[in-house]
Amino acid sequence: MKVVVIGSGYVGLVTGCCLAEAGNQVVCVDHDAGKVAALRAGRLPFHEPGLDELLAAQLQAGRLSFETSIARAMRHAAVAFLAVGTPSQTNGSANLENLLHCVHELADTAFEDCVIVVKSTVPIGTGDHIEKLLNAKHGAAAGQPRVRVASNPEFLAEGRAIRDFRHPSRIVVGANDEGSAQALAELYAPFVERGASLMFMDRRSAEFAKYACNAMLAARISMVNELAGLAGSLGAGMEAVCRVLKSDPRIGAGYLQPGAGYGGSCLPKDLRALIRSAQEAGEPAYMLRSVQRVNRLQGRKLFDAIRDHFGGGLRQRRIAIWGLSFKPGTDDVRSAPSLALIHALLGAGATVSAYDPVAMNAARAALGDTATVFGESALNVCEEADALVLMTEWEEFKAPDFEAVAARLRGGVVFDARGIYRPGLLRRHGLQCHRLGERPAG
Ligand code: NAD
Repeated sequence: MKVVVIGSGYVGLVTGCCLAEAGNQVVCVDHDAGKVAALRAGRLPFHEPGLDELLAAQLQAGRLSFETSIARAMRHAAVAFLAVGTPSQTNGSANLENLLHCVHELADTAFEDCVIVVKSTVPIGTGDHIEKLLNAKHGAAAGQPRVRVASNPEFLAEGRAIRDFRHPSRIVVGANDEGSAQALAELYAPFVERGASLMFMDRRSAEFAKYACNAMLAARISMVNELAGLAGSLGAGMEAVCRVLKSDPRIGAGYLQPGAGYGGSCLPKDLRALIRSAQEAGEPAYMLRSVQRVNRLQGRKLFDAIRDHFGGGLRQRRIAIWGLSFKPGTDDVRSAPSLALIHALLGAGATVSAYDPVAMNAARAALGDTATVFGESALNVCEEADALVLMTEWEEFKAPDFEAVAARLRGGVVFDARGIYRPGLLRRHGLQCHRLGERPAG
């Protein structure tokens, strides 16, 4: 099948590469000419494990190409995905400016019988709107077939995006007509042969399913974080409590690790957009709002714990940070809890030295001209620091040389925002370990 993917970011590029690998002829489009030039030369604009090899293989096989022009890419296309970003606007709703820009370009483009598939996460009813826009112009032109629009939300997780795309837990297809459902069934047939299940539904349900999933995930994180705070106050150990929670099949084991709160490019913005949609629909959305409030508090709690440890003042204190990306396996720092913490620490007069194995450039760009110092290594940033805060559980932070950490860390205290360190082990190295949800131990 000839497939077009508009937007070559984390989702679009993975989609394009994996669909090319499945034997389709894929053209990925991006309006960023620099990005397109780099991709044509086989260079990735971001970090995603395994994607560089897959990109090289598909370029080499001649199944994948890159374009800046939607019109050029659309020639002979059977399916065209919209995978551009839909970030938050100040009022919380999803910003559809880039998406609608692409839709207007599509409306001005002559193309054959092609299903337009919205892969970006979009508010419920966006597919209806796009279909109307396209048909008002495109369908009205002589000889052009009626345009069909389907929804195919993406559930991949950065850091394991290729595995998720190749072996998805399910593929959701929202189609209001038989033809687009069939086209997507054909496109995804190789994935179904490998065991993926296709779930067909109407377009609005598919759009909503994506938000519902992210709302559930965010709710679990806020719930476990709130329980961890309670456990700490009531003298219970959250690690033991989590073991019990995870062993209950009705609850399930995923997303039950207390931490610094959810972040990243999806959960915060999708929750905001859903709350906005609820507001527009006159729904109170009490749960969603509480999930959001607990998450905001969680980041604050970590900062408070650090500040309280130093007697309420952080002026002249040097804080080392391990991990900047919102989770391991990616260089994505969008809404990363580490950035919020860094801003709070700097605002309180501390100095910050930070290290991340892959997200330093992205963090440098996001933090702009703040006084953050970026170190060359994990140990390097501990030099003369008063405290170390673990923010992202990268492999290299899981079993570090605590002897060497203790030798460099002036303050001898570690704040473990991911719950991966054994306080007893750190104590043996003369380090004090604070974990969220545990009573501080000496
Ligand atoms: P991204 O910012 O990484 O990529 C978007 C790409 O679209 C960029 O390369 C940008 O240059 C390009 N673009 C923007 N406007 C364009 C235009 N007018 N014409 C052509 N290209 C244009 O975004 P992403 O993380 O890939 O997310 C894309 C969508 O997928 C969002 O709606 C997001 O919510 C959703 N999603 C993301 C993830 C994830 O983990 N990142 C997972 C599931 C769903």
